[in-house]
Amino acid sequence: MLGNLGRSLTDAMKKMAGMAVIDKKAVKEIVKDIQRALIQGDVNIKLVFELSKKIEDRALNEKPDKGVTASKHVITIVYEEMVNLVGKEAHPLEITGKPYKIMFLGLQGSGKTTTIGKLARYLQKKGFNPAIVSTDTWRPAAYEQLKQLTEELHISLYGDPENKDAVDLAKKGLEKFKNQKIIIFDTAGRHKDEQDLFDEMKELSSVVNPNEAILVIDGTIGQQAHDQAKAFAKTTDVGSIIVTKLDGSAKGGGALSTVAEIGAPIKFIGTGEKIDNFEVFDPSRFISRLLGMGDIQTLIEKAEEAVDEDVAEETMKHMMSGKFTIKDMENQFQMMGKMGPMKQIMNMIPGLGGKLPKEASKMTEDKINQYKIIISSMKEEEKLNPKIIKHSRIHRIAKGSGRKPEEVKDLLKYYKGTKKAMKGLGKRGLGGGQMGRLMGQFMK
Ligand code: GDP
Repeated sequence: MLGNLGRSLTDAMKKMAGMAVIDKKAVKEIVKDIQRALIQGDVNIKLVFELSKKIEDRALNEKPDKGVTASKHVITIVYEEMVNLVGKEAHPLEITGKPYKIMFLGLQGSGKTTTIGKLARYLQKKGFNPAIVSTDTWRPAAYEQLKQLTEELHISLYGDPENKDAVDLAKKGLEKFKNQKIIIFDTAGRHKDEQDLFDEMKELSSVVNPNEAILVIDGTIGQQAHDQAKAFAKTTDVGSIIVTKLDGSAKGGGALSTVAEIGAPIKFIGTGEKIDNFEVFDPSRFISRLLGMGDIQTLIEKAEEAVDEDVAEETMKHMMSGKFTIKDMENQFQMMGKMGPMKQIMNMIPGLGGKLPKEASKMTEDKINQYKIIISSMKEEEKLNPKIIKHSRIHRIAKGSGRKPEEVKDLLKYYKGTKKAMKGLGKRGLGGGQMGRLMGQFMK
């Protein structure tokens, strides 16, 4: 849905979920990504800048609640501000009064007739039996389209292709269906000129006196939706909006955000040509899906669950200072087991992706498991001071873990290589403290 907008935003969120430090630079980078995505999605530039400013201000000034990671904090801010952008709360359609008169408005081609069918079906599923009145005297096919649709759905329709008086049709329809619970009025989407169309809407609106006027807007027109909605709002008190064609439309984000500004809530969205391609619009659910929150939540949870922060920091400190022991290596394996392969984890940390010591990147899960078993047969003093592991100890450990002495030697070799590489990494710019902090933050 919404073309690439969802993908770009999800990518930005994923990038942030993987960031170890969320400083000013990181926030600015994320805000840039979001801006780029929204502008490409035809969201009004003014709205984009207002949104970015809010996100930036909040991300830099609001302190996360205790126990909430910096990345989760910023993701939540982005989510909240995006929800505000498309209308804050869900406004479900409520049928009050009888007959409940719904008048549809919208330009020809916006998807009005299709959407009437979708809403009728939706109401049917809720146990209502709506009737439809066709007042579109300009498009001959409109009546036929509705006739076919209502026959399929077994819904009553009133219309008369011979009658060219929309107001008269509305009056007769109203009379015919006065005992129905819900009456839906279809109206023209085109006239000889626009002003005539708007005049007719005004007149129809005073005759029908709708409980709810629903404006249908084509989502593919992007931010132009704003002017269109405003023009219709002058003729009738628009109570709600349905944005159509959001399936794959690159400009849908623009339509949604600009329409939300009008003040009438978006109640439904159209997501395809079929009768069931219709959804109740709930800003929180919609944005959470758009941002890929499900995936990101998992990523964050994975990092949160992973390890005891103190153990992580201590391990990293040892790694960097050259005091790295087999005990630390065991902790490291534990972290890997919980968070996924080391290479993948390191890739999520900006600036570290390519710098993983060769020994660590070659590790496979099988190998890690094998090493864990061997280490479990070591004594504490051996883990803390691996230098003492010589010939007889190697044989004892091998026997205890059901492994060959060569495999124990292999582990010791891996340990020494990692220790050396980690020490080098610490010296090469990424200081131990910085690296420890990175890992510590990431594993919070
Ligand atoms: P009307 O002139 O406003 O009554 O528009 P129609 O209902 O005849 O729809 C115009 C075109 O838009 C038709 O080809 C519909 O199938 C298509 N359409 C309507 N809603 C959607 C939608 O949500 N997604 C897509 N992809 N097409 C839609």
